Amino acid sequence: MSILIENGLIVTNDDAGTRLDPGGVLIEEDRIAWVGPMDAAPEAARLPEVETIDARRSIVMPGLVNAHMHSNECFEQGAYDNLPLELWLIQSYPPFGMPRLSEREHYLRTMICAMESIRSGVTTVQDDLLHIQVTPEAVDGAAKAYDDAGLRAVITVAMWDRPFLDCMPYLRNIVPADLAAELDALPLATAEAQISLFERHHRRWQGHGGLLKIIPAPSGPQRCSDDLLRAAAELSARYDLPVHTHVLESKVQAVTGHDFYGKTLVEHLDDVGMLTPRFTMNHAIWLTEHDIELLGDRNCSITHNPLSNMKLGSGVCPVRRLQESGVNVALGTDGTATSDTADLIEAFRAASMLHKIGGHDFEQWISAEEAFRMATLGGARSTGMRDQIGSLETGKKADVILLDRDAWGFIPLNDPIRQLAFSVTSECVRSSIIGGRVVMRDRVVISLDEAALKAEVAEAAERFRRDHFPKMQAGAKRIEPYVRQVYERCTGLKLELAHDPHRMPPRQN
Ligand SMILES: [Zn+2]
Repeated sequence: MSILIENGLIVTNDDAGTRLDPGGVLIEEDRIAWVGPMDAAPEAARLPEVETIDARRSIVMPGLVNAHMHSNECFEQGAYDNLPLELWLIQSYPPFGMPRLSEREHYLRTMICAMESIRSGVTTVQDDLLHIQVTPEAVDGAAKAYDDAGLRAVITVAMWDRPFLDCMPYLRNIVPADLAAELDALPLATAEAQISLFERHHRRWQGHGGLLKIIPAPSGPQRCSDDLLRAAAELSARYDLPVHTHVLESKVQAVTGHDFYGKTLVEHLDDVGMLTPRFTMNHAIWLTEHDIELLGDRNCSITHNPLSNMKLGSGVCPVRRLQESGVNVALGTDGTATSDTADLIEAFRAASMLHKIGGHDFEQWISAEEAFRMATLGGARSTGMRDQIGSLETGKKADVILLDRDAWGFIPLNDPIRQLAFSVTSECVRSSIIGGRVVMRDRVVISLDEAALKAEVAEAAERFRRDHFPKMQAGAKRIEPYVRQVYERCTGLKLELAHDPHRMPPRQN
């Protein structure tokens, strides 16, 4: 199957920043066979069997890469507000009251992420699937959803093996003995069980349909034994896979490193062999100078999640400092119960604006052009696909989006990337091609029956809201006073950092 996208404004996003108008993109099977000015189109583009897409009124660009999100939060969009990370976590991931869903329910929940992604120009999503029961149906349901939707997905299989009370400083000493006994009695999968489940997922889904990738993801160093961290690093090396983990998203986590290991969490990850070019650290906010240096020296990546970081009051990632140190920066929405959206254009807009506050040195601000590279090539590198996706170049995967050049926000067309950041919404994304297959045409998702699917998703989501959500809230309520004490104690401490994450005076108490 070959497709010629003809006569569009092509934003190639190659290293030279080439734009072509009128330009064309020839797709053969799942790859880009040619990109160039229309008057230089090759013979192969004119063969009768080639389907043509008229792009005269379109801006054609590489599909976006959402480098960090959690589809498992999709039934909780809009459920929480005004909570910092640790107090939010116990609501969305309470130790008591988490439901066990069927594979079909996992599938339907993932579809919310898949549809929002396709509709907002995302062609690759890195879905950090947090499934506390450590059973196969979550990844199986998600993988089937992405396969049916036709969305490229890197499913990160989350892992942790430390008891709930040992994942935060002070908590074990604060919680009453009877509650502590109940918490310690909760089932906890061993490191071996989690590694073997990962191997099973990897065997079953890696490379499926040319779209799926399965990678290991220790949820956070403070939630994992050193053995589990080493095993995850070993899996990453053995299969040459990226490995993702959440680190230094909050001040509590910064205190945790010192309390648990007498060093920062980044230094601890370096000790266990995690910091390699395959490593991506999600959030990366509460960093010391040495952390930034280490991440740069080891050629690591981070994901920047401005929407989630603002909503949870986590602080601002020092993106410019990290880039100067040599760290690759990718862009994510984070989960749909923290940001609360899978629309990466919203995160792109936030990343293009957020770094302009807090400093007068405007030459250090992050531009829309730079944020766009995070949303494309930065994410491509973080997913281990730098040579496959993120730009429109011959030989790369055919992940292409077409934007409506007649959208009000593109009139007049001064600069497509700046206007995507500041002037239009994701409604301007008209069509999407992923791996050479058209999945959305003129805002109709054609890879599946979206209307029928939506009815089933809505029913499952309502069932979750009615039957499971109150039990989760009740579970959270039991532990909330103790986690609040940890939060207050940690946020009252003074830390030596490379920057001021909150860009406001430290808490006084
Ligand atoms: Zn996350």
